Amino acid sequence: MRARFPIFDEEAEQPLVYLDHAASSQKPQEVIDAIAGFYARDYSNIHRGIHRLSMIASDRYEDARTETARFINAPTTSQVVFVRGTTEAINLVAQSYGEQILRPNDEVLISEMEHHSNIVPWQIVCRRSGARLRVIPITNAGELDLDALDNLLGPQTKIVSVCHVSNVLGTINPIQEVARRVHAAGAVLVVDGAQAITNTPVDVTALRCDFYCFSAHKIYGPTGIGVLYGRDELLARMPPYQGGGGMIESVGYDSSTYADIPSRFEAGTPHIAGAVGLNAAIQFLRGVGEEQFYQHGRALASHALERLAELPRVRLLGRAAHRAPILTLAVDDIHAHDLATLLDENGIAVRAGHHCATPLLDKQEVSSAVRLSCGIYNTLQEIDFFFDQLAIACTRLGKPIT
Ligand code: PLP
Repeated sequence: MRARFPIFDEEAEQPLVYLDHAASSQKPQEVIDAIAGFYARDYSNIHRGIHRLSMIASDRYEDARTETARFINAPTTSQVVFVRGTTEAINLVAQSYGEQILRPNDEVLISEMEHHSNIVPWQIVCRRSGARLRVIPITNAGELDLDALDNLLGPQTKIVSVCHVSNVLGTINPIQEVARRVHAAGAVLVVDGAQAITNTPVDVTALRCDFYCFSAHKIYGPTGIGVLYGRDELLARMPPYQGGGGMIESVGYDSSTYADIPSRFEAGTPHIAGAVGLNAAIQFLRGVGEEQFYQHGRALASHALERLAELPRVRLLGRAAHRAPILTLAVDDIHAHDLATLLDENGIAVRAGHHCATPLLDKQEVSSAVRLSCGIYNTLQEIDFFFDQLAIACTRLGKPIT
């Protein structure tokens, strides 16, 4: 598997131990080749050309949409909107759907385990509309408190937006169950799937969510492209998010009419090569077998938890029963940046800081933490190497943990 990722150069003097998958995944050769090959052979702008190349490029772009719809089991391809990534997908829903329906004193619910991308867009739309942003608490184990969700839900709740998998705690949330409760209250469920898409099966029809958002770069695909899935009756009623070429039906100086979904939400030249790369990433996942990814992740996570059990002075944020291979660790009196710098000297790439989840870290009374997160290319030996080096780094910083 590692040989399929050119970044893991076997000849390198110091092997790369890449434990920063949750920030962005490394790219297999087939994704790199698909993007380079597209630019080399098939590239043109799409949809507006009559010439052969434009038709080829348009087909490649639309094939990517078809494959994406199949990948997440969306009922129709028009329910797959290509955007820049999870962040843009959430902003699109907040500004188009949210601004259309929210009135003063309505409520939007998010949870205590959200990434900044699933907090700030809702703050902005709540400020503009006069709606209130409320926060669903999490339990001590770092799981969504479903009783608290029930207590917050009411006729005033219009939108609930939660992550499927936490980028800090690794918790996998029971989205189907959340959807049932949210729908019983008459609200709409938005799911931030940025971390789930690589760690757990995503079937938007079975999950019964109304919107689902993810980025290609977290599933071995390129940056700059992501997906907003939406229920078609909701998407069809939503106003455009941005205006420009590609999203119109007719244009006059006084007014314009808009294209159907999904084009209505894809103003301007899209990331065509990105869509080709996303399709290649999906084919890569399919070729390996999606279940392999989840199984491998579970094996790495349980091994990491075993190693962690030997280190009582290292604090793990979140102990959810159902979790992804994302472990965020804090060591008393050691700054995470110091640890990450020493680990980097040994070729270990981990994230350190607030992980774009400052309110969650504040609640855990931690200002910064080190996060290790794994992909299909990681090994049990790398997990061992990480914990061995973590112990050495703590000793070097004057706070032994063993
Ligand atoms: N939501 C979660 C849970 C994330 O982990 C991330 C990125 O790390 C995002 C949203 C934002 O994704 P992007 O930067 O690809 O838009």
